Formats: sequence, C-alpha cells, structure tokens
Amino acid sequence: MLQTQFDVLIVGAGVAGTALANQYSQLGLHVCLIDEQDGPGRCTSAHAGAITHPALGRTASKLHKIALAAFRLAANDWQEHWESRGVFLQSKEHVSFDAAALSEKLHHLGIGADIAELVSLEQAKQRFGVNRPGVWFRTAGSMNLGKLCQHLVLGNYSVHTIWSTKVARIEKASGNWLAFDDDNNQLAKAQTIVLANAFGAQTLVEPFDIKLFLKPVRGQLNVFEFTKESGLLARLPKTIVSGEGYCLPPRYDSVRKNYHWLVGSSYDEHDDSLLPRSQSDQHNLGLAKGMLAPIEPDFSSLKTFDRFVGIRCVTKDRLPLIGGLPTLDNVYVVSALGSRGLLWATLASYAIPALSHSSAFALDRLARFGLDSDLLSSLSPARFLAGALASNSKPIFPPTPKAR
Ligand SMILES: Cc1cc2nc3c(=O)[nH]c(=O)nc-3n(C[C@H](O)[C@H](O)[C@H](O)COP(=O)(O)OP(=O)(O)OC[C@H]3O[C@@H](n4cnc5c(N)ncnc54)[C@H](O)[C@@H]3O)c2cc1C
Repeated sequence: MLQTQFDVLIVGAGVAGTALANQYSQLGLHVCLIDEQDGPGRCTSAHAGAITHPALGRTASKLHKIALAAFRLAANDWQEHWESRGVFLQSKEHVSFDAAALSEKLHHLGIGADIAELVSLEQAKQRFGVNRPGVWFRTAGSMNLGKLCQHLVLGNYSVHTIWSTKVARIEKASGNWLAFDDDNNQLAKAQTIVLANAFGAQTLVEPFDIKLFLKPVRGQLNVFEFTKESGLLARLPKTIVSGEGYCLPPRYDSVRKNYHWLVGSSYDEHDDSLLPRSQSDQHNLGLAKGMLAPIEPDFSSLKTFDRFVGIRCVTKDRLPLIGGLPTLDNVYVVSALGSRGLLWATLASYAIPALSHSSAFALDRLARFGLDSDLLSSLSPARFLAGALASNSKPIFPPTPKAR
C-alpha cells in the first residue's frame, strides 16, 4: 500500500530541500521529499561550480555573524563534496594594500588565522598566478550543487521521494498538513511541512494571505574554452578567485583536449528568463578581464563552450527566509537563498529541525557555532509580516528535545 503519513514533508529538492531531507533522516525522522522535476538538483541547484567564502563586510553586524557561522558549518560539513578547496579574495586595487588595516578589519570581523591569511602581491603572483594582493580562505571552496543534491537523497532509502509531481496546494486536517497535486490527489501528509521550493513557496502560502516578497535575479555563468597552444593557461589563476566576479581554476577536458574555464556571473534583477544571452557572455568576458587586470591576456581565442543560467530567489532585504510561519502551525520556509545557496542551505539544515523538533543534535550544533534564536530571528519569514504578527517573529527553540 502506498504510504502517505510522514513526520516531515519537504517540498522542493534543490540544495535547500535535499540538505534538510538528509538531516531529518539522520535524526531518525520519516521524511517525504516532493519535486516537480524528475530528480534532485535540477533547477538553480544544477549549478556545477558554486563557491563559498566569508564576506568582508564593513561591520561585524548580526548578519555578518550569522553568515560567518554558516560558513564555518559548511566548511566543516561537506568534507568529501568540495571539488576544489581554497578561495582567493582579491583586493579591488592592483597595488595599494594596507596589510595592517586589513588585518585589523579581519580581527574586528571575527575572522581568525584559522580561516583567513593575508597575501601580498608578490605571494599572490607566485602562489596563485594572480596579479593582486588579497585574502586567502583555505577552508573555502567550490562544489557541484547538483551532484551534492543527488548524493544527499538518491540512495538514501530513509527519504521517500516523489518526482515529477507538483504540489499544487497544501491544507491542514486533523493536525496534519496534506499536500495535493493539480488533480487534487493527496500526495502525502505529515505533521510538519517545509517549503523549500524557492518561488513556489509563495504560491503555496498565498491562499493563507501570506506574502513572502520574493523577486527573481537572473544569473548566467560561462564556461570558456581555450587550447593548449593559446598560451592562456600560464596566464590564468591557479585557484578560485573571487572579487567583482569569480572564476574557477581552468580544467583540462581530456575528451575535447581543451581547457575549460568557468567565469561568472551576471546579476540581472527582476529578470526570470532562462535563455542564455550573448550580452551575458560579454558581461562575463568583462569580469574575466577585470579579474586579471592589470595584465591583459589575448582573449581572442577564448570561446564559450557552455553556459549555466539560473534564477536566484531573493527577498527585498536580500536575506534568506529560514524559519516558521507564525500564523501557520508547523509550516516552515527555506527560500530566498540568493547567491549563497550552499551557505544558507547548510544553516537551514540545522535551524529548521531545531525549531520543528527541538532536535538536541541541531540545537547543540547551532550553539557550538555561536548561533542562538536572537541571531536567527533576522532570517525569520515573519520579519515581513506587519503589525502584531511581526512581534511574533522571533524563532523560539522549543525546550524539550523530541528527535534524536
Ligand atoms: C548564476 C548563479 C550563480 C550562483 N553562484 C552561487 C555560488 O557561487 N555559491 C552559492 O552558494 N550559490 C550560488 N548561487 C545560488 C544557488 O544556486 C541557489 O541559491 C540555490 O541553488 C537555491 O537552492 P534552492 O533549493 O532554494 O532552490 P532550487 O534549486 O531552485 O530548488 C527548488 C526546487 O523546488 C521545486 N519546486 C518548486 N515549486 C514546487 C512545487 N509546487 N512542487 C514541487 N516542487 C516544486 C523545483 O522544481 C526545484 O527543484 C548562484 C545562482 C546563480 C543563478
């Protein structure tokens, strides 16, 4: 008989939903994961070269603290999934580099020597083939998000998956949340439901008069191709470089006998077109040139080999939505991960089980990384709700552990 009763129902199998499904299953809970695509990591999470590193904001704000803690969690958690380790954040200026001021700033931001290392122009040239000074983040790196999503749920038999099925609406009955498809067939039911379906979360909460204020930001990455004979290999960075844009170190394609170089990305607000554009090719070429400046390699032999286009889901304050909906019991949202999918999905995989099931493991992990309910309230979806509801926005971690 088809089983439809679960502890947790998750809608959306991108990096948010799969990280969460994996976590809940490890806590011993019975999880159902539903996606309208035919497998995990098919939409924005199909990104094969996502990077993550700490940001050097101006102040040690609450948000900086949350993002830094989330970075530490991610750097620690995804051990064998990193495809390349170490990110060089290059300075904007080519030469001027006030090491003392930068060192002071890192200290002020709580970024210690375990995470960051200052690198002079000479060292940057020697170690990374980069023509600017900057900061080296040893534990940062890049990951294939699509592969990660697949790894987290395919072959994980404690997660029940339903593919190629859109959740058209949700409804509460007798203490359970029920999910229905377009033909009004009941797909599954669970006491707890997590909407980890990016823009789709808005559609599912609309009947309850809730607005999440999500907006699309189109992004295109280019994989450029060049030959060994072009002489470009010796002139490109040997590591991941981040700055105005970012690039991965070139990789040799043994089939095409050429090199591939991923560079990105465009940031086109209020645009949800998934079609590749030559304008974005040019934009990314411009980013590539900017990252190599003041050196100006001859890019005439560089060709676009592949493109990835995705739509970032973003809120009006550019922070993710991670938390419960105050007006809907046991409904949680993980959406609007913006350009930091890996970071926020990792954080959500602890924050949501801590909220929904008082998971002692998740609570302990959050506490170890300095994350408390006060900090996490900044990410609660309730921050956009007006009046009395807003005062209810603080996520309260339940006191009694229910899950292992
Ligand atoms: C160009 C570009 C570059 C980026 N670079 C980085 C980077 O370097 N580092 C980084 O960390 N992040 C990066 N990101 C962001 C990252 O890719 C996203 O934040 C992340 O993939 C979002 O994951 P998600 O699970 O929230 O959404 P998605 O991956 O979009 O998953 C949502 C899923 O929900 C499903 N769904 C929606 N509605 C329904 C429904 N009603 N029923 C069933 N299923 C439904 C969809 O089919 C989809 O599979 C980048 C994004 C872009 C576009």
